[in-house]
Amino acid sequence: MRRKIVAGNWKMNGSKDLVKRLVGSISEQSGSGGVEVVIVPPAIYLSEVAEFAGGEVATGLQNVSQWQAGAYTGEISAGMARDMGCAYILVGHSERRQLFGETDGVAAEKVKQVLASGLTAMLCVGETLEEREAGEAVSVVAAQVRKGLASVSGDQWRRVVVAYEPVWAIGTGKTATAADAQAMHLEIRNVLAGMKAPANEVSVLYGGSVKADNAPALFAEPDIDGGLIGGASLKAEEFISICRAFPADA
Ligand code: PEP
Repeated sequence: MRRKIVAGNWKMNGSKDLVKRLVGSISEQSGSGGVEVVIVPPAIYLSEVAEFAGGEVATGLQNVSQWQAGAYTGEISAGMARDMGCAYILVGHSERRQLFGETDGVAAEKVKQVLASGLTAMLCVGETLEEREAGEAVSVVAAQVRKGLASVSGDQWRRVVVAYEPVWAIGTGKTATAADAQAMHLEIRNVLAGMKAPANEVSVLYGGSVKADNAPALFAEPDIDGGLIGGASLKAEEFISICRAFPADA
């Protein structure tokens, strides 16, 4: 059975005060129905988040170095993330790809580092609006999955999560319809199967303007195993509702 996961990516938002206000109530109220709740704050707040979470929610890193250790000023290694108690690391978020020039090759190196450190890699993939309008969405996403996860083999697949995040839906208030998201998730699962992954055991999350009101329809789809949440993860009530949006029998 694959995991149901809701991860909140705070991006470059937050403060000690926000951690105090948000994390306690999230950790008290979000956990139910076998959902793994993950908070992904700016790295500098990781210990603060872990302290207020009291072990009830997992933590993650928004980005990681493609190198193991050494003279890479400003970078954080996957081993350091493990040392700080992180369980997950995002790789290839569209903001990393678009604003920092992260290529599929770099994403693949980062996935290798995450897996070598024993953590779970959450590879983010998704097409731009232009690519969707040109009818290229499936081929773009399939290529990102194949290239980003090219080195993964055997038992490592258990520590891989894919987050489908159409770029045009991130932070825009536009969400893919549940049917469109489901169709892409199925394509992703087919790509994974073609890579000899245990495709039915890899969690595939949806991200892009997920809110309390659209999460139930998305999470009811058979191939959507949860969400990667940006803006709505900064509001405790909204995020908690999203964590509870899975159908009762899922
Ligand atoms: C994200 O940044 O991964 C994201 C999905 O953001 P938002 O929910 O704000 O669209």
